[in-house]
Amino acid sequence: MRNSDWKNMTIGFFGNGVRHRIIKRTISPYRKYKKLLAESQWWSEQHLLDYQLEHLKATIKSAYKNVPYYRGKMQVYGIKPDDIKSIDFIVKLPILEKEDVRKNYRDMLAVNAFPPMLYKCQTSGSTGKPLTLYRDLDNVGFEHAMLMRQWQWAKLGPNDRYATLKGEMIPQIRTRNNIFWNFSPIENKLYMSSYHLSERNIDRYVTALRKYHIKAVEGYPSSLYVLAKLMLNKNIKVQMKSALTTSETLVAKQKAVIEQAFQCRVYDYYGMAERVAAIHTCEHGRHHLVPEYSLVEFKSSDSLSNGIYEVVGTTFTNMAMPLIRYRVGDVIKPSNEQCPCGRNYPVIEKIVGRADDYIITPSGKLVGRLDHVFKGANNLIEAQIFQPDTKNVILRIVPDQFFKQSDADSILSKLQKRLGEPMHLEIEQLTFIPRTENGKLKSVISNVPGILN
Ligand SMILES: [Zn+2]
Repeated sequence: MRNSDWKNMTIGFFGNGVRHRIIKRTISPYRKYKKLLAESQWWSEQHLLDYQLEHLKATIKSAYKNVPYYRGKMQVYGIKPDDIKSIDFIVKLPILEKEDVRKNYRDMLAVNAFPPMLYKCQTSGSTGKPLTLYRDLDNVGFEHAMLMRQWQWAKLGPNDRYATLKGEMIPQIRTRNNIFWNFSPIENKLYMSSYHLSERNIDRYVTALRKYHIKAVEGYPSSLYVLAKLMLNKNIKVQMKSALTTSETLVAKQKAVIEQAFQCRVYDYYGMAERVAAIHTCEHGRHHLVPEYSLVEFKSSDSLSNGIYEVVGTTFTNMAMPLIRYRVGDVIKPSNEQCPCGRNYPVIEKIVGRADDYIITPSGKLVGRLDHVFKGANNLIEAQIFQPDTKNVILRIVPDQFFKQSDADSILSKLQKRLGEPMHLEIEQLTFIPRTENGKLKSVISNVPGILN
């Protein structure tokens, strides 16, 4: 899932960051898309629908003409690009699974793509095998323009200096000397380690934020939350213009703590390495699905509760390797609300998380939304639910100095209630919960094979 799932690409880090910044801002069509997105956010619903249909047609036409995989599929299904008269037409095409892309990725590359101009990237595969993807310059430019618009919505200018905590590794030579960050003057960005946040180090982090005059913080919700929580435990607040979170599900408690520590609003944005759906937060704090980015279908499934859907997306850019009806593996809850910001963009009430964030009970029931278990548990720094087998569940927690036995009892009893059938539960107290290779914190890990993992 999500942005920055692609460490192999290393955009944004020192030397590469500079090179990519030049490519993103000058060689790619970034400026063209920046202008488009500035205007299109105020289009009428009909205008947006027309745009989507036009781009869907273009994607299908290009895929049919240049991508062997889709040409083959469309021939099997008896579909021609000219048949497309409305957006609903998309359902005639098969759903594309991650496994399909993995097995056929060579056939998914457009024959007219020019390999030296493509970016190769790999998803981390935190929940499976990694996936290789290619991106063209058009896609890189559009993505960057999207991101800059999100920054604008968050009231940030392109030159506002920010700190980022997205699992980047800080060289050991620095961390050994208690320097858990690295400032990149050309990018005007302070890279901070997600791996050294602790009560012992928190003062050093705060000193760095102040010393570098940081105006905004961005990162994984889990990293920003730990930073914020450690600050508040010591009664420290640092004023920021805004905080941006991405790449993991932001839960209400994390949002509140980050907003309190940094005295600003949190803008959460959602995307993924496959780039088939984007959800950004507007000035009014609503999550909006961005219709210019892609065509997103909300797919219901028997294992999901009412009103919650899986994300299936079709790209409007990246004709070098277009993904059509790609099942992302994330679940969201759309809303019918009209946002006071005035944009005709669909509102998403909640990005629920991964479709595989579930515990599987002995009777085979899937129990999700387990973040509720930690509601009201204020004395935790972080937590993870781990299911090694059908009968056992281990709650891995990092307690702070105020943690009491009654907190542990309360969490266990809430979890038992949610599971609804007898399972052996225990709490494991840790000083740090191991992250995925990208430094992300997975809230639920189940080793029990289920329909979703
Ligand atoms: Zn809005």
